[in-house]
Amino acid sequence: MNIHEHQAKDILKEFGAPVSNGIVIFSDNEIRDKISKLKDKEYVLKAQIHAGGRGKAGGVKLIKNLSDLEIEAKKMMGKILTTHQTGPQGKEVKRLYIEEASEISEEFYLSCLVDRETSTLAFISSTEGGMDIEKVALDTPEKIITNKIEIKDDGPNKDEIDKIISIFKFDADQKKTASSLIKSLYEIIMKKDASLIEINPLIINKSGKLICLDAKMNF
Ligand code: ADP
Ligand code: MG
Repeated sequence: MNIHEHQAKDILKEFGAPVSNGIVIFSDNEIRDKISKLKDKEYVLKAQIHAGGRGKAGGVKLIKNLSDLEIEAKKMMGKILTTHQTGPQGKEVKRLYIEEASEISEEFYLSCLVDRETSTLAFISSTEGGMDIEKVALDTPEKIITNKIEIKDDGPNKDEIDKIISIFKFDADQKKTASSLIKSLYEIIMKKDASLIEINPLIINKSGKLICLDAKMNF
């Protein structure tokens, strides 16, 4: 089973991971009522479909004000979005996620995948965030590291976490957040029985803060 980005982010939030505030709408009429829940004046409008590659296909839009948000939401709702992951028939956009816009300083990739046969988790980390990871693996494999850890009661230890984040040049605070994020991913896998969690991109914003800007979860 596959869930939408906004649902995956709700789970991340529930487990203490850093995600931005957002609202989900099923009709553009809902914007006026719900928008006050967001603090920012700039938004990102994101089509919720079960496929990635939305950014390049017009399914992720930076919006500067409320009236543009209403115009663009009207355009995006009900549209058939075709990305490299939807197949040529595309997917209809039936819900939208409106999220506070982040000022991105750097984009990374972090995912966690279960191998039930060997009772291990593979964490994949890359400095090439926001890209298709298969393409990064082909073109610049040196920018990806995989770390396998054993599934055990007390979760990943400090050594394992240090290895997973070793490819990122994080400062002490960022390391703390990343370490807690990795523990959260581990717990989600265990408690929600997820088989894959992919954060792409995981970003550092202009204030140096780590945020999960996109999330995919499979069960
Ligand atoms: P997809 O993977 O389907 O293309 P993403 O959610 O990863 O969709 O969005 C694509 C790109 O849009 C991201 O790599 C990021 O650069 C930008 N983006 C997404 N969400 C936000 C946000 N809240 N604020 C700023 N930029 C964003
Ligand atoms: Mg993405």
